[in-house]
Amino acid sequence: MEILNECPVCKAQTFENFIKCKDFTVSQELFQIVNCTTCGFKFTNPRPGPIEIGKYYESSDYISHSNSSKGIINKIYQVVRKRAINGKIHLINSEVGKSEKSILDIGCGTGEFLAACKSQGWKTKGIEPNDSARSQGINNFGLDVEKEEVLASLTERFEIISMWHVLEHVHLLRTRVKQLYSLLNDRGKAIIAVPNYTSADAEMYKEHWAAYDVPRHLYHFSPDLIKRLFKEEGLTHIKSLPMVYDSFYVSMLSEKYKSGSNNFFSAFRNGFMSNQKAGNNPERYSSVIYIFQKD
Ligand SMILES: [Zn+2]
Repeated sequence: MEILNECPVCKAQTFENFIKCKDFTVSQELFQIVNCTTCGFKFTNPRPGPIEIGKYYESSDYISHSNSSKGIINKIYQVVRKRAINGKIHLINSEVGKSEKSILDIGCGTGEFLAACKSQGWKTKGIEPNDSARSQGINNFGLDVEKEEVLASLTERFEIISMWHVLEHVHLLRTRVKQLYSLLNDRGKAIIAVPNYTSADAEMYKEHWAAYDVPRHLYHFSPDLIKRLFKEEGLTHIKSLPMVYDSFYVSMLSEKYKSGSNNFFSAFRNGFMSNQKAGNNPERYSSVIYIFQKD
């Protein structure tokens, strides 16, 4: 295990326990999430290091890598994913303006989103650390997908960099935000989707909230702190958008973790309730898309 002695956001060294969660998908081990008493940032500590974490992704249930359509929750995930891809394409088309359409998708998984970008005339590049997922993106869609290590040496620059539910998995958080800055064209935009533990569904499910997803989720972002972190690295927040399906998907998994079985009625009710409570505030939804622009 790796222990952080310094807060990744403010560098303070005093933490208190926030919540202890179980790894329900792979190891069934318990992990502590701590709260920085200076800035309030929440992170999993201690955590598996960059090599050790590999085994916590080894599960047939880890669907963004396996693309399996077994089981009812996976089936729903596949349907929602298709819809979500259309929404993401609409978003990047509206954010890119008249400039060249180039996108780098970090953590592109099996490549469905990037393939859709490519078919819409985007110049695409993907980064994916998982070998099997990366090969699928290359072989199924003819995409240009590389390992995570190449990020540091890329000379290309992009109008859009997207990370869909990926930043919370990255060990060297501030280093990655600095990389985003240098990989963007001037006035280019980073589109970052992460779970929101300040949402109503998180508050309701507490340690069973599926989007804590320890130890794979190393960081747990509030709207204020992700904006602060990016601002410090030259990326200004310009817009937040809600991810309205996530509360349902996360509630389905959370119900399963809480009671040991599927409970679609409660999941639907709680997902709906969470969205209702968020209303017209995008930063209260279960997951949030943040758009940052290079200064
Ligand atoms: Zn801090």
